[in-house]
Amino acid sequence: MSNTDTRDPTSLRTPIVAVLGHVDHGKTSLLDKIRGSAVIEGEAGAITQHIGATAVPLDIISTIAGDLVDPDDFDLPGLLFIDTPGHHSFTTLRSRGGALADIAILVVDVNDGFQPQTLEALEILSRSQTPFIVAANKIDTVPGWNVNEDSPINDTYEAQSDRVRSRLDEKLYEIIGNLSDEGFSADLYWRVQNFQRNVGVVPVSAMTGEGVPDLLTVMMGLSQRYMKEEMEIDVTGPGVGTVLEVKDEKGFGTTIDTVLYDGTIRADDQIVIGGKNEPIVTDVRALLQPRPLAEIRTESRFEKVDEVSAASGIKVAAPDLADAMAGAPVRVVRDRPLEDVVGEVRAELADIAVDTEEQGVVVKADTLGSLEAMADALDEVELPIVRAEVGDIAPRDVSVASTAEEPKQRVILGFNVDVLGDAEQRAKNDDVRIFTDEVIYQLIEEYEEFVDELERAQQ
Ligand code: GDP
Repeated sequence: MSNTDTRDPTSLRTPIVAVLGHVDHGKTSLLDKIRGSAVIEGEAGAITQHIGATAVPLDIISTIAGDLVDPDDFDLPGLLFIDTPGHHSFTTLRSRGGALADIAILVVDVNDGFQPQTLEALEILSRSQTPFIVAANKIDTVPGWNVNEDSPINDTYEAQSDRVRSRLDEKLYEIIGNLSDEGFSADLYWRVQNFQRNVGVVPVSAMTGEGVPDLLTVMMGLSQRYMKEEMEIDVTGPGVGTVLEVKDEKGFGTTIDTVLYDGTIRADDQIVIGGKNEPIVTDVRALLQPRPLAEIRTESRFEKVDEVSAASGIKVAAPDLADAMAGAPVRVVRDRPLEDVVGEVRAELADIAVDTEEQGVVVKADTLGSLEAMADALDEVELPIVRAEVGDIAPRDVSVASTAEEPKQRVILGFNVDVLGDAEQRAKNDDVRIFTDEVIYQLIEEYEEFVDELERAQQ
């Protein structure tokens, strides 16, 4: 299999889709359903599993969507779904320096309504100005929702959509009613109120597949209508992408899973990547794609490819990747002065850099985007930061936190990260408190409760 693109130099790339929402609302199930439908409807090889993404081509979408999508009406090649649902990928979305996702699906469980991670997702989508569609999921559990297997788009579809929408609205109002009490910002409150008037809601069931054709249709329609110009790329140009994950891979050392959203990356390219301290300059050792399942038994899990064009997911093996960060930019140097490319990467990183003070708490997060979101939230509550970094909580973070003069600053706040074994014990010994959570507001709340306790104890 080769991903070499032989189209004209100026080509339309596949829009990149992220799936967000609260835990258990059905993000993974929805992605699985979309992938599953694609496999059932097309030949097995038609959809391609990339690293961290799945490409569903236009002809498969049109087969799934039946009469709804006529391939002749579209120029965009299909949709590329980011496979890692939830915070992990969506906090990599950024308004500056190139957003990872072009369009998003916000999954909301119709029975559970808007939950903290839904609101957080809204906040990030709105900040990055990423267009999105709400998938009102689990409609199979709504009494009166008549699933008609033969014809999902039946006469009463409109009426049924309305019923699900009003049910969702009821939930929304309930939550809006509580919002101000819970200390969400007035700005967010306003946005949630406005949001429902502007945003499309597609009722779906990730379990039965009801509504999935409609969701794909709406996604294709919106992409074609509003994003066609942004999808124009030079497929022979130097590649531009974002690091999704930094992973150790047996036989290849440290690798970066990358989503390429412009140009091409080749197996002999020099690349520049955002690192923890400085941009990393290195040479691609191998470009790796997962093999089809059937071949894995005999061979390695990956096959090497010579070249990949946007938009696609690709694993890059190269020396010196230890300091690469999820959310950081990746750029191919090819035919340009190296200093220019390093300068571009440095400028992009500086844009996301977090101001640190002499004294403050230590902040760790899973991606650059989530680190930025954490820093913004802490700035709002006027909490100073002494160190902000991407990565798990390690003993050296405890060392930094333990130098704080005030007990309320002998603290490490971790968003979507693990606490490494030694750090836990070290923190106990050094009287450093570690807080971790997967929702920023909850993390800050936990911290504020801790400060309240401290103050009460001192009185
Ligand atoms: P995620 O955490 O958002 O990725 O959620 P999952 O996809 O893991 O789904 C959470 C749970 O909800 C699982 O037990 C799913 O089987 C269930 N679920 C997801 N979608 C649906 C749906 O459309 N209908 C029903 N009845 N259950 C669903």
